[in-house]
Amino acid sequence: MTIKTDIIIIGAGLTGLTLAFYLKKAGKNVLIIEKNDIVGGVIQTHEHDGFIYETGPNTGVLSNPELVQLFDDLKNDCELETANKASKQRWILKKGKWNALPSGAFSAIKTPLFSFKDKLKILGEPFRKKGTNPNETVAELVKRRMGKSFLDYAVDPFISGIYAGDPNKLVTKFALPKLYNLEQNYGSFIKGSIKKAKLPKTQLEKRATKEVFSTKGGLKNLISALEKNIEQKNIYKNCNNVTIEKSNNSFNTIFEHKDHNINIISKKIITTVGAYALPEILSFIDKKTLEPITNLEYAKVILTVAGYKNWKGIGLPAFGGLVPTVEKRNVLGILFPSSIFKNRTPEKGVILSVFMGGIKRPDLFEKSDNEIKQIAIEEINSTLNLDNIQPDFINIYKYQHAIPQYDEKSKKRFELISQLEKQHEGLLLAGNIRNGIGMADRVKQAVDIANSII
Ligand SMILES: Cc1cc2nc3c(=O)[nH]c(=O)nc-3n(C[C@H](O)[C@H](O)[C@H](O)COP(=O)(O)OP(=O)(O)OC[C@H]3O[C@@H](n4cnc5c(N)ncnc54)[C@H](O)[C@@H]3O)c2cc1C
Repeated sequence: MTIKTDIIIIGAGLTGLTLAFYLKKAGKNVLIIEKNDIVGGVIQTHEHDGFIYETGPNTGVLSNPELVQLFDDLKNDCELETANKASKQRWILKKGKWNALPSGAFSAIKTPLFSFKDKLKILGEPFRKKGTNPNETVAELVKRRMGKSFLDYAVDPFISGIYAGDPNKLVTKFALPKLYNLEQNYGSFIKGSIKKAKLPKTQLEKRATKEVFSTKGGLKNLISALEKNIEQKNIYKNCNNVTIEKSNNSFNTIFEHKDHNINIISKKIITTVGAYALPEILSFIDKKTLEPITNLEYAKVILTVAGYKNWKGIGLPAFGGLVPTVEKRNVLGILFPSSIFKNRTPEKGVILSVFMGGIKRPDLFEKSDNEIKQIAIEEINSTLNLDNIQPDFINIYKYQHAIPQYDEKSKKRFELISQLEKQHEGLLLAGNIRNGIGMADRVKQAVDIANSII
């Protein structure tokens, strides 16, 4: 069967769906090709016995106007939910005790998380010279400007929470470009943040409040809203052996679908899949050429979700607890989704999302499900004061390619992506191989690409 369309998108995760939503809204003929039998990619929400929980990303940050606009555009089909104010604190584990991450000058002076020497060093941050090494790692930058204890007890756990990564390997310019630009443009994080806060903002920018967000009833409702608006007829699910061939100035996307071989001819192809999936899809580019993209390293992450109908541990008035590497525990952190969002559990219930593995502990990925459950329960019991209590349910979700690491190899990857896009007109390589890994980054990239096409 041969079909013609304007634009093909490979992958129906948040990037592909947002892209298709805006292209279709602008009147373009667009088809999505998805390997799985459901859409949403890593974003999936499960529901049973009065519990609603995420099995991929739990929360995002409302950090850009594109995301605010997306929720406005989908307001008839899903509702943005921002975090309960009571869950604002981030806890950090130090010597077996949780401490709130300081949120202001007073708490920063009082906190036991940072050394006295580094507290003084932070006061001098606005007066320090700016860095000159574009390949400086996050760890080098933070030690230079803020001190080692700030790296160990603020930035290292923060990097675990976002990248499941290693601050000694992530390059600031690629991994945390906003932070890098604050130093480069304003000479200091503190001065830069103050000056940026004073810049005039559009109404939409003002609504990008940096609050933690989900969708009422779980992130699946954002995905369903996108799917509904794109319409089923424009989404091919269960597609196997997807491969693209080039013929003159168009592309043939060939795949197996429900016992049929389908060939779709289009002028534009946008991939949103991971780097590891590209060689098979881009059959017209040799594998060696693609290496600077396919050598992208991913953190493996294990998410264990534990549900308690009648919680008996300590109160959880926080976003969750992050565990610094220097504490030498088996978890990256424990998130408290039922403290962050409303109606996620039965009345006295609690949901905990325990993250393990990451770049520093790939060994945990090799453990059996029973061992992982055991580790998760032990860590919950010992850090949240539960007396050897078993959860009412505990489920494990493993991600071999959870989070791409924007390390020193990123420059070459970004250069090759631009080069291939110029060389093969109509080809766009999107997804979290570039432009950031968070959900807000995914939406911004999709909107930017859609606008460039429209
Ligand atoms: C465990 C975990 C926790 C996370 N936590 C957070 C968080 O708290 N906050 C946050 O902002 N972000 C978080 N992220 C990151 C964020 O969820 C992702 O970056 C984002 O959802 C990726 O969306 P995407 O569409 O680019 O990719 P994906 O969701 O990976 O979608 C890609 C799609 O392509 C499909 N596909 C792959 N290969 C093929 C092929 N050969 N043919 C056809 N289709 C194919 C896949 O099936 C998938 O549906 C987390 C990610 C993970 C894994």
